[in-house]
Amino acid sequence: MTKFSFDLQATDGRARTGVIHTPRGDIRTPAFMPVGTAATVKAMLPDSVAATGADILLGNTYHLMLRPGAERVARLGGLHRFMNWDKPILTDSGGFQVMSLADLRKLTEEGVRFKSHIDGSTHMLSPERSMEIQRLLGSDIVMCFDECPALPATEAEVAKSMRLSMRWAQRSRDAFGDRPGHALFGIQQGGVTQELRAESAEALKAIGFEGYAVGGLAVGEGQEAMFGVLDYAPDMLPADKPRYLMGVGKPDDIVGAVERGIDMMDCVLPSRSGRTGQGWTARGQVNLKNARHADDPRPLEEGCGCPGCRNYSRAYLHHVVKAQEIIGSMLLTWHNLHYYQVLMAGLRAAIAEQRLAGFVADFHARRAEGDIEPL
Ligand SMILES: [Zn+2]
Repeated sequence: MTKFSFDLQATDGRARTGVIHTPRGDIRTPAFMPVGTAATVKAMLPDSVAATGADILLGNTYHLMLRPGAERVARLGGLHRFMNWDKPILTDSGGFQVMSLADLRKLTEEGVRFKSHIDGSTHMLSPERSMEIQRLLGSDIVMCFDECPALPATEAEVAKSMRLSMRWAQRSRDAFGDRPGHALFGIQQGGVTQELRAESAEALKAIGFEGYAVGGLAVGEGQEAMFGVLDYAPDMLPADKPRYLMGVGKPDDIVGAVERGIDMMDCVLPSRSGRTGQGWTARGQVNLKNARHADDPRPLEEGCGCPGCRNYSRAYLHHVVKAQEIIGSMLLTWHNLHYYQVLMAGLRAAIAEQRLAGFVADFHARRAEGDIEPL
């Protein structure tokens, strides 16, 4: 049986490329993970997600525990079988979403008691329950249960929250148990304070994890503040383990994070914006609702290999988005996920060939050009 392991294959500056090996398949890094919140990447079949080049997707513990329920998914053979995705799955711990979505939260040392935003039923999430749910789902990469303080927060509040998360990280490690082929990732907290980030990293390294996430970013602090933390935070984590930046991001966020030593990312942006008529291309964001596309026979992105660009015009995409036809969401989600994976493949090749600086310069130059001129 394949063990969970990480082969760091090349570096260019602080950027890294490698492969995470799991029993369910390899994950090429830097990796972008599409988000399959409720056991589906919305508007996509699993085969289509794989066809875009995704090696792994993310599932949300908070959503799945409430509906359809982790015990039910386990009875039905686990999340991979339930949603027909046989590649690796990473699940979050539920900690972030319980703080952002649930009603009537009560936070204690034990965990978080809350009411479901779906039906008002009462639930408890703790490090132990989060580990149990992620095991029932059959997740390949399990995240520690942590707390992300609501912003704005004082440094004292961030410190207190971080130390609680480190105690929960130890409880997560203890509850995870011995599960060959599966990985548990610790999550660094500490907000935008370097000393707190260092304290958190030391606490996590003392416990020991198969991978490490930089948590508590992409929560509204802005790109400059996020990059400010990424200028030092990833280097505090073990170099021989994957580093995951949670909830990022826009294409330029991804490029900047990879430049700073991040190996894995996830974001709802490409799929969500595909359902609101937005296309992401090498030349930036394109709003297909815009009337300028109504008579445009050209593809959304010249040279793109996705079905939306190979088979359809901007005029068609504009029409189906305006008419709120389901195929509009399907084609734009596919295109956006395809574009993200092309970007990741480009980053991996550039790092492997020691030409990341040129790749990044070209990335920014093409975006600065903006969308193609109207006809
Ligand atoms: Zn396309």
